[in-house]
Amino acid sequence: MSDDEHRLQVEDGDDHAGVPDGFQRLWTPHRMAYIGGENKPSDSGAGDGCPFCRAPGLSDDEGLIVARGGAAYVVLNLYPYNSGHLLVCPYRHVADYTDLTPEEVAEVAELTRTSMRVLREVYGPDGFNLGMNQGHVAGAGIAAHLHQHVVPRWGGDSNFLPIVARTRALPEILSDTRARLAAAWPSDQRG
Ligand SMILES: [Zn+2]
Repeated sequence: MSDDEHRLQVEDGDDHAGVPDGFQRLWTPHRMAYIGGENKPSDSGAGDGCPFCRAPGLSDDEGLIVARGGAAYVVLNLYPYNSGHLLVCPYRHVADYTDLTPEEVAEVAELTRTSMRVLREVYGPDGFNLGMNQGHVAGAGIAAHLHQHVVPRWGGDSNFLPIVARTRALPEILSDTRARLAAAWPSDQRG
């Protein structure tokens, strides 16, 4: 294959017409949404310019918050890869996993486990992708404020969801998702 042909194929892939690549399919939609500018932080600082600092100050409905802990909280991804795509964030504006306090590490882990249990109960996924993108180069849309992805997966979902995810997620649907997950969240873990 010549360089030109190779380049062409890569470009086709960006338009979701090429040979699928699992890793890119998983993380590109968020990156594209943020590159598009919507909800993009004005800078890397804390405060209202950062969506993950801003969300806890809103009501659960407005902020799409599913659960609030003492050091971390669970929020619906505004640009979900799948229905029920959650983000577990420390309240503190911290970029790097090594900078979390032991309390934050423990709570991010516990909220991640509860997210899985609640998602299983409500949506019955076949599996999950869990993970943190550390740094822009690794695909973090908002690199300055650490967030752990909890992405429910179903057999065959990667065949069509990148296209679905690129279309605007309707606020009503996200708000329904939030309400269902919040209702299923164990009461002893509600903030
Ligand atoms: Zn922040």
